[in-house]
Amino acid sequence: MVRLVVTGTPGVGKTTVAIELSKAYDAPVVDINEIIRPVLKWDPELQTSLVIDEVKARELIREDLGGAGSYIIDTVAINLIDKSLIDWCIVLRLDPRQVMDRLLKRNWPRCKIVENVLAEVVGSPLNLAIDVFGRDRVIEVDTTNKDAHEVANHIVNQLTVGVPVIGVVDWLDTLDTDFILNLSREL
Ligand code: ADP
Ligand code: MG
Repeated sequence: MVRLVVTGTPGVGKTTVAIELSKAYDAPVVDINEIIRPVLKWDPELQTSLVIDEVKARELIREDLGGAGSYIIDTVAINLIDKSLIDWCIVLRLDPRQVMDRLLKRNWPRCKIVENVLAEVVGSPLNLAIDVFGRDRVIEVDTTNKDAHEVANHIVNQLTVGVPVIGVVDWLDTLDTDFILNLSREL
């Protein structure tokens, strides 16, 4: 049995990699948004679904997944998932300049794109993953210049080794300061 959640900044490749992992483990990809649809409300301005009742959302997820076999969840909303439902939290990372390129292809408000690129710069999804699941359940993966199949293979290998991995990238250290400053000014 393998119960995974794949998370990371929008655009890093969660959905694509989750599908690859689903093939590798012959496990279904679970759509959390489908499970918590009763407590989601569309925000037209932010062009995003907001959770209107987190307690209920958590309960719906627990009811749906508790006792199920293997699954791959693809979500940014890992705070809604009980720790007991997950064996490993995979945090995908991607060079923020490429996150930017990918998000520019989405018809999103500029501020939403900038916010998410900066979230990748500072590693917010990784920090959230550590908060929610603990350092011993997190595997961080740098997907930069790897295709989805390579990323999935890498994850399968890491899961076989079975040890947590944190600290594979430091975008604050590797990126040009101007790139970060210019984005920050847009907020
Ligand atoms: P997310 O679910 O994290 O928002 P997606 O899986 O939708 O990300 O991927 C965003 C875009 O990037 C898609 O166009 C997808 O085809 C592309 N993509 C995803 N993973 C990779 C990869 N490893 N290499 C190149 N392009 C990728
Ligand atoms: Mg996705």
